[in-house]
Amino acid sequence: MPLVTLCEVLPEAKRHRYAVGQFNVNDFLWIPAILEAAVAEYAPVILGVSDRLVDYLGGFRSIVMATQILVEEHAADIPVVLHLDHGRTVERCKAAVDAGFTSVMFDGSHLPLDKNIALTRAIVEYAHARGVSVEAEIGQVGGIEDGVVSGIVYANPDDCVRMAGETKVDALAVALGSVHGPYTGEPKIDFERLSVVAEKIETPLVLHGGSGIPREHMQLAIFLGYSKVNVNTECSIAFRDAVQHFISSNPEIYEPRFILGAGREAIAETVQRKIVEFGAAKRAQAFGNRATCNMIERQRSSPRR
Ligand SMILES: [Zn+2]
Repeated sequence: MPLVTLCEVLPEAKRHRYAVGQFNVNDFLWIPAILEAAVAEYAPVILGVSDRLVDYLGGFRSIVMATQILVEEHAADIPVVLHLDHGRTVERCKAAVDAGFTSVMFDGSHLPLDKNIALTRAIVEYAHARGVSVEAEIGQVGGIEDGVVSGIVYANPDDCVRMAGETKVDALAVALGSVHGPYTGEPKIDFERLSVVAEKIETPLVLHGGSGIPREHMQLAIFLGYSKVNVNTECSIAFRDAVQHFISSNPEIYEPRFILGAGREAIAETVQRKIVEFGAAKRAQAFGNRATCNMIERQRSSPRR
């Protein structure tokens, strides 16, 4: 199937209390590794591309083209979303939409709420008119975000209600104690506040910084309301460790496909484990009958762009 949007995978996940994993693409090598894992588990999957890596990867169009072909050739039976992660400006989000990303996140979490809502709305209008889904963020995920180290700001439930209602986003990243990058100490997710937010709004919720959260905490967080979980650090560390180990145990081998192949395998293993942990294994079949939101239905019936 062609690339899908968040609207086609998240409402179904919310209904059945599992989460669709977003795995970040750090290099082209990551794309087949992630797809291979999702196919093995027959799971829906989201390929996340951080705005700050877009130029490194050759620009929006190169990413779209490579993804489309790899999905067509190797993952035609599972729903795959190509999502811009932490879009920095309205213009960058629009450029991703124009290039063929099926979903974009605008990160206005550092802005005053009114400004965050206004800019998010502008992107929603543009994206929805072109059949593309949008994620926004409320509160602040701790750790390193786009090179800036920041503390955790727990999302305010009333702000979440306003953001969801006034912007009509398709997914809302609600920061409730998770951290980007490796954790130092025990992560402290505010489960009570999570239940409150999940009760108040229909919009599927997103957990950023899904690496290193203990399995039982993760599963509780998913049960209570997170339908999309972003994973980046854990795959990168698995990649680094595998490559390091391969080089030190095989100093005579210089062929990149063996060296990087060890890393690729480690990424795939990590992704596969996460998919199972999130309860998303075997969930690709749900999309035979295509659960979709109204926005996407409307767009599909009229020619795109
Ligand atoms: Zn994030």
